[in-house]
Parts: sequence; C-alpha cells; structure tokens
Amino acid sequence: MAFEILSSCVNCYACEPLCPNQAIYQARPHFLIDTEKCTECIGDYMQAQCSSICPIEGAIVDELGRELNPPGSLTGISPALLAQYQAAVEATYQTALAAKSA
Ligand code: SF4
Ligand code: SF4
Repeated sequence: MAFEILSSCVNCYACEPLCPNQAIYQARPHFLIDTEKCTECIGDYMQAQCSSICPIEGAIVDELGRELNPPGSLTGISPALLAQYQAAVEATYQTALAAKSA
C-alpha cells in the first residue's frame, strides 16, 4: 500500500512536510514517495495528506495507477470542457499562423 508521485509534479514542496511518515523526499526530476514508508496515511489521517495539498491534478496515484486528484477535481473544469478549450486555442493559433505566413 503506497502512493506514487508522477512526472507532472512541479516540485512545489507542499506535500513533503505533511507526510506523517517522512515518506516523501526531494529527488530529480521530481519528488518521490518511499513505498516502504508510505501507509496511505491510514491510522494517522482520514485523508492522504499529500494528495490533499497537491495542486496538480493527477500528480499522485495509488498502487493501481488511479489518480487521487483526477482531472477536473481541483480546477472544476471537466476533461471534456478542457479539450474543447484547448481545441479552440489551437484553432485560433493555427488561424493566426496561417494569416502571418500568407
Ligand atoms: S499517503 Fe500519507 S504516508 Fe503516503 S506519502 Fe502521502 S502523506 Fe505520506
Ligand atoms: S504537492 Fe504535488 S506538485 Fe507539489 S511536490 Fe508534492 S507531488 Fe509535487
């Protein structure tokens, strides 16, 4: 039973001091969790402290790779809406690029 920090971690340091087991440590290119020490906060807190403070959706996953803060959970922007916005931004960019090279 242990969580994992993925490459989308932005090294904000927020989670490290909150871990009751000192399982989180600074590494390169991003923070990591010592799987031997992580207890998923069971017995210490009702909610995992690292994922409760982490500002990046999807940066921390459980043993099965499930995101503890899935897309949309922190921003309130659903994946579908985000994709829609990204498509609109891309279309605007491509239009501007085409106009510039015309
Ligand atoms: S789930 Fe709890 S014990 Fe595990 S790394 Fe996060 S804060 Fe530490
Ligand atoms: S809180 Fe999240 S983004 Fe910040 S260091 Fe920890 S895992 Fe990385």
